[in-house]
Amino acid sequence: MWTSVLLTTLSMSGISVALAVVILVAERFLNDYGTVKVDINGGAKTLEAQGGASLLSTLASHQVFLPSACGGKATCGLCKVKVLEGGGTLLPTEEPYLTPAERAAGMRLACQLKVKRDLKIEVPEALFSIQEFKTRIERIDDLTYDIKGYRFALLDPPAISFKAGQYVQLYSEPYGQVKECVFRAYSMAQPPSDEKAVELYLRLVPDGVVTTWAHTRLKVGDPVRLSGPYGEFYLRGNCKDLVLIAGGSGLAPIRSLVYDIVEKGLPYTMTFFFGAVSKRDLYALDEFHGIAAKHPNFRFVPALSKPAPDDGWTGEVGLITEVVDRHVPDAVDREAYLCGSPGMLNACINVLTKKGFGNDRIFFDKFA
Ligand SMILES: Cc1cc2nc3c(=O)[nH]c(=O)nc-3n(C[C@H](O)[C@H](O)[C@H](O)COP(=O)(O)OP(=O)(O)OC[C@H]3O[C@@H](n4cnc5c(N)ncnc54)[C@H](O)[C@@H]3O)c2cc1C
Repeated sequence: MWTSVLLTTLSMSGISVALAVVILVAERFLNDYGTVKVDINGGAKTLEAQGGASLLSTLASHQVFLPSACGGKATCGLCKVKVLEGGGTLLPTEEPYLTPAERAAGMRLACQLKVKRDLKIEVPEALFSIQEFKTRIERIDDLTYDIKGYRFALLDPPAISFKAGQYVQLYSEPYGQVKECVFRAYSMAQPPSDEKAVELYLRLVPDGVVTTWAHTRLKVGDPVRLSGPYGEFYLRGNCKDLVLIAGGSGLAPIRSLVYDIVEKGLPYTMTFFFGAVSKRDLYALDEFHGIAAKHPNFRFVPALSKPAPDDGWTGEVGLITEVVDRHVPDAVDREAYLCGSPGMLNACINVLTKKGFGNDRIFFDKFA
């Protein structure tokens, strides 16, 4: 009796091991796509790579950087690329990010498309100017209890050329349970004139991979990898009066815009609405009050939605939407630039739309 139980157990284990080996071998051979060619912009650039990785990472490993904020999770929809040949069928994960017209034109999400055969793709020429930067951390500042400011000195290449408002991708290193390099989008806080460094303001997201790495692991002197510049959030300047709205770390690209405008002496008037819950969420107040004191074309309106009793707050009170509603009369000769959490942005866009701001007068980066 015991012998037959033992024999059955042994033969079951043997079958399991054999099956596992078959699966491993099959995976090894079925997923071996060999070397594939990616032709970019009708032969303007051709690269050869081992098949099997996503198009996004295949391009990045050959120094062609597509915009991406989510690090390849198919949640930002920024890494769109036109695939002329070899892309296979559209995946369900791509569908929500592509309009019917984009699908008909062959647009795909590069993070979802696995490179299995030769590909022909088209990318905007401007993306070829995106570079990877080796940097060293020069300074880390505690801006609030959950926002830190980082200044990265650029080593190679030694300078960055960008438009105020654009962002970079910050690459984390493996740590703790996170076994791979991960990247996320962060807006540059310094003006373009400060070209030898990149300044980023990172709000700690509980359990967030990159912000936890940055807040808990990074020290002055550490080497860090960035790539950029990316993004369409920059000054259009078709109207005289600029409405600037930010919450939390959304202050970063607005800071870059404000410094750029005052440094260049551009003929705009600006009102910067900076929304927070209570005083512990506010930072850079002295800095922006200082700019306002020196530049009559810049007005600074920090506002708290729920000031704490001991905040001693005498400024504007209310949700940032209410404050914007009170101060901005209409859309006449006005453009709006917004940065922060999706919830805050959507609510503000609603208010601005009711005041007559069309889509061509509202520019934003949602920090999602
Ligand atoms: C164009 C652009 C510019 C950006 N610029 C900045 C910037 O200057 N400063 C900055 O701090 N952030 C910025 N972000 C957001 C940033 O890219 C990351 O999404 C964010 O820092 C979270 O990354 P993580 O790896 O720490 O968290 P993840 O590992 O991506 O997320 C962990 C968990 O937290 C949730 N989560 C993700 N983001 C948030 C969030 N913001 N709030 C609450 N929950 C969240 C996720 O759904 C997930 O469940 C920007 C985003 C975009 C698209």
